Amino acid sequence: MKDFIYKKSLGQNFLNDLNVLTRIVKCVPITSKSLVIEIGPGSGNLTKELGKVADNVLCYEIDERLETILDDTLKDFSNVKVIFDDFLKRDIKEDLKDYNYDNLYLVANLPYYITTPIIEKVINSGLSFKYITVMIQKEVGERFNAKPGSREYNSLTVYLNYYFTIKKEFIVSRNSFTPKPNVDSMVISLIRKDKLLPLKNIEHFDNLIRDAFKYKRKNIRNNLKNYNLEIILDVLKKYNFDLTSRAEELPLEVFVEMSNSLID
Ligand code: SAM
Repeated sequence: MKDFIYKKSLGQNFLNDLNVLTRIVKCVPITSKSLVIEIGPGSGNLTKELGKVADNVLCYEIDERLETILDDTLKDFSNVKVIFDDFLKRDIKEDLKDYNYDNLYLVANLPYYITTPIIEKVINSGLSFKYITVMIQKEVGERFNAKPGSREYNSLTVYLNYYFTIKKEFIVSRNSFTPKPNVDSMVISLIRKDKLLPLKNIEHFDNLIRDAFKYKRKNIRNNLKNYNLEIILDVLKKYNFDLTSRAEELPLEVFVEMSNSLID
């Protein structure tokens, strides 16, 4: 890595601390017939650790300058494949067609400039990830893990909570990276729920929560004025809320029931 010029624009802060790398891998209960997806292998530090425990690892790396470095780091791992392309442009389902797996995971030290688009793409891919364990910026991690009533609680938190149990794993100091970033990091796991709350239409639910959180200072009556407020009030009352409540106070089940009732 001696002469490698890191690109800030690609979120290239590489993790060199073996202790942290093995801790990340230990967060994920990788079982047999496993396929792990990694976004942004960089120099392959984390990839190597994943290659040791998973049946197969499929990586996406946008920066072709890393090809020779990755070839070298991963020379002993015939179970690891790297696609050199922008992950956000890929058809993941198509890429996975040739793999025979029972358990799918995502493990990555993400490029922070596209954390949310990556997570949204993965969740909307239609693929059933058992665990999504990612290193992200600490503040973003707090948002993903936020509880109703806190300032960080937002529509993405609600959406993620629908599918996953969100687990804060551990904090990683900025000193563990090269080059050193301006922020600390957090490893977080999104663990797929065995049983999802029955939802009539996920798209309707998604739009409803986006609208409910649209203007932070506004209450439900104002943010959801284009919906049937009578129906909404009936649901809110059941949970001891009313139209003056704000979206950040409402737990997942209220949004689910609201969406289902509005579709009736
Ligand atoms: N996994 C390595 C580690 O832990 O040391 C590197 C992590 S670094 C934070 C993020 C990596 O994502 C970089 O290698 C960067 O080139 C890559 N990357 C950035 N944007 C990407 C994209 N759109 N698709 C795929 N990889 C991307």
